[in-house]
Amino acid sequence: MKKNSIRTKITLWFSAALILVVVLTYFVILSVSKGILQKTIRDSLITAVENNVDEVEYYTSLYSDTAANDIDYYVRYGNGYIEIDDDFLDAVNDVYTSLCQADGTLIYGENPIALDTMDLDFQDSVVQRVRVDGTLYYVFDRQLTLDGLEGLWLRGVVSEEQGETELSAISRTSLILQPILVLIAIIGGWLIAGRVLTPIRQIAETAAQIRQGDDLKKRIELNDGSDELHQLADQFNEMFSRLDDSFQAQQQFVSDASHELRTPVTVIRAQCDLTLEEQDVSLEEYREALEVIRRQSKKLSRLISDMLDFARLELQPERYQKEELNLSSLVEDICSDMALIRENNITLTCETEENIRIRGNRELLTRLLTNLISNAYRYGRTNGHIWVYLRSEPGHSFVLSVQDDGIGIASEDLPNIFRRFYQADPSRSGKGNGLGLAMVKEIAEFHGGEIRVQSEPGSGSTFMVIIQSTC
Ligand code: ADP
Repeated sequence: MKKNSIRTKITLWFSAALILVVVLTYFVILSVSKGILQKTIRDSLITAVENNVDEVEYYTSLYSDTAANDIDYYVRYGNGYIEIDDDFLDAVNDVYTSLCQADGTLIYGENPIALDTMDLDFQDSVVQRVRVDGTLYYVFDRQLTLDGLEGLWLRGVVSEEQGETELSAISRTSLILQPILVLIAIIGGWLIAGRVLTPIRQIAETAAQIRQGDDLKKRIELNDGSDELHQLADQFNEMFSRLDDSFQAQQQFVSDASHELRTPVTVIRAQCDLTLEEQDVSLEEYREALEVIRRQSKKLSRLISDMLDFARLELQPERYQKEELNLSSLVEDICSDMALIRENNITLTCETEENIRIRGNRELLTRLLTNLISNAYRYGRTNGHIWVYLRSEPGHSFVLSVQDDGIGIASEDLPNIFRRFYQADPSRSGKGNGLGLAMVKEIAEFHGGEIRVQSEPGSGSTFMVIIQSTC
């Protein structure tokens, strides 16, 4: 049993609370039982005395046949006789009743504390308490009022200890049963806590295995269920999947980036080696070699600068301040500049809804549109067309789309084109390095938007950037 485990803590707290409740219950039961028992004792005392009241009668003379035929008890009193019926109960269930004169002289019946109650005043229909040798007794008196019985009293006496046997039986049963029940509850609680906490242990074990082995493919496997712990396990599994995805993306990026960087460096080195090793190199050949080196260096420097921009946008987005700007004018300016390119005799037309304003970063939005239009030129067809639209949509969003009638994208490439360094057909990419669309996606997300693409190989492609208007 681990000292600090949740299971131990839960069981300890639960046991402490249970023991407290049981002890309190024990004392409450005991005191309530005692109260009820005492009341029952007093009631039986009153009933016994009241019943005996009718069993005492007075006769002026004693007829011989009356006396002969019954077994009642007769005592001479005054000028006649007191008849005590044989139903008179002088001792029943430890309740004693005695017939006394007002000065305390006992005429009939029993009183175990007669001597001690000699001086106790008679009080009609009142329960009195007397303590004799440390024991409490209840005393109940009834004055007899029938003719001839004036001056006579019935005195009932019962000891408080009379109910003690029942009480100690209740107490004994509680003292034996309650600890057994508490023990069963504690063992049950320990087992339930263990069962309930098993998923947490499994979660912790899986997390530890992942930490030790760096194996993000591991998942927490619980039995069927849908309680909070299963939900927690699902959340953890989802988190592991995401971590795994981003870890893999990271690894992929490093490998792609190294590959992309290595190609121009290898070309430069090869060109240098070749030129240096060759004897009698002409000025023209030197020039050609330097031309190759310059081209590759440019490619390298563009690649590095694109990667840096990417890293900045991803890791330090706060470097790019947002301002309120007129997107319609920005799009029109970029289009009118880029329409001049006319690469492959492609025509660019632009239709924008006026005065669409957003909070955004001018530099990044320019980059976004420039990348999309450059791609449309690069993958467009000779004498083709590029259409740029900017319009607002219901629900405070606007759509910026760039459409071309170029080569289009194969459906199997569509899910990958926004990945960094992905090029469906590198031979057509020319100066591209596969970072353009990934950057577009990053910029759209930076502005709280998203990018979608529709494309048909041979017919052309449409890229749509959907952004919620924030102005
Ligand atoms: P690249 O520098 O290769 O153009 P991008 O990230 O801009 O990289 O694009 C990724 C790939 O998506 C390209 O290599 C190309 O295959 C495809 N692509 C992008 N835009 C278009 C387009 N307008 N028409 C057809 N294919 C496109």
